[in-house]
Amino acid sequence: MDNCIFCKIIAGDIPSMRVYEDDVCVAILDINPAAPGHTLILPKKHYQDLFEMDEETAGKLLMVAKEIGKRQMERLGAQGVNLVQNNGAAAGQTVLHFHLHVIPRFENDGSMVLWNPTEPSMDDLKAICEKLA
Ligand code: 5GP
Ligand code: ZN
Repeated sequence: MDNCIFCKIIAGDIPSMRVYEDDVCVAILDINPAAPGHTLILPKKHYQDLFEMDEETAGKLLMVAKEIGKRQMERLGAQGVNLVQNNGAAAGQTVLHFHLHVIPRFENDGSMVLWNPTEPSMDDLKAICEKLA
C-alpha cells in the first residue's frame, strides 16, 4: 500500500525500533508509548483491520504477542500486559494497517482506562445476548 505508514516502516523506508521479526510480522516500539516497552505487532501483508485478516495470520500474531508480553515481564519488570487492538475510527483506530498493541503494565501506573463500566438491567443484557448468540 503506497500511502500506508506501517507498510513503509515494514519496508524499511521509515525508521523504527524493531524488537522482533519473522516471515509473517514485525514488532516495533510505539512512537508514543502508553508505557515504556509498548510494542506494536504489524503483519507484513497489508490488512486494514481484523476483519480483512485470515485466521492463520491472526493466530500467529497472537502467539507473537504472547512472546513479546513475556519479554516485557521478564526483561522490563512488567507485572501485567494489556493486548489492545482497535478496528475502525469509532474504536480509535488511527492507522489503517492492522496492528496489535502489547502494553506492559506496572502496579498503579494509571496509564490506561480501557472502558467506563455501565450497569444494564438483566433485560437489557438478555436482549443483547439474543442478538449475539
Ligand atoms: P491505533 O490508535 O490506530 O490503534 O494506534 C496507532 C498507534 O501507532 C499509536 O499508538 C501511535 O503512537 C502509533 N504510531 C503512529 N505512527 C507511528 C510511527 O510512525 N512509528 C511508530 N513506531 N508508531 C507509530
Ligand atoms: Zn499497510
